[in-house]
Amino acid sequence: MSGCLFCQIARGDRHAHTVFEKEGTVAFLDIFPCTPGHTLVIPRQHYPTLDEMPAEEAGRLFHVAAVVAGKVQAAMGAAGFNLGVNNGKAAGQEVFHVHIHIIPRYPNDGGGSMKSVARMSGEKDIEQIASKIRQTFSPS
Ligand code: AMP
Ligand code: ZN
Repeated sequence: MSGCLFCQIARGDRHAHTVFEKEGTVAFLDIFPCTPGHTLVIPRQHYPTLDEMPAEEAGRLFHVAAVVAGKVQAAMGAAGFNLGVNNGKAAGQEVFHVHIHIIPRYPNDGGGSMKSVARMSGEKDIEQIASKIRQTFSPS
């Protein structure tokens, strides 16, 4: 994908503040960080969204992200981190090359938790939702 920003970074055609590289994975600093040390972890291979990526490759990506997150937290002296994916336009994805955000967290940094990304209004039937999801694993 010649026009893809993150493919260009993966190939070394565009500068990034790379902090770690391993086989098919690159980790570099987000250019507009939410907090100091905000890092993105990407696969070298282009997949627009996580659901289009083979699960085994996604597993390897998350493995690297977990390792890098611990290192970033230690290096930055952070008190914790959020690790997440904006998957799809509705979820806020802007760069359509899979990437995992590692956002180091600091006391009183003004941020919220994962639960602050969306709000559900009104009661929903949780068991009906669980059943619908279970069905996708073994449709009858
Ligand atoms: P998302 O909304 O999950 O698609 O986030 C894309 C992220 O990529 C944003 O946090 C941007 O700040 C970041 N970003 C965009 N361009 C670059 C770049 N050239 N180098 C590093 N990070 C970038
Ligand atoms: Zn790409």
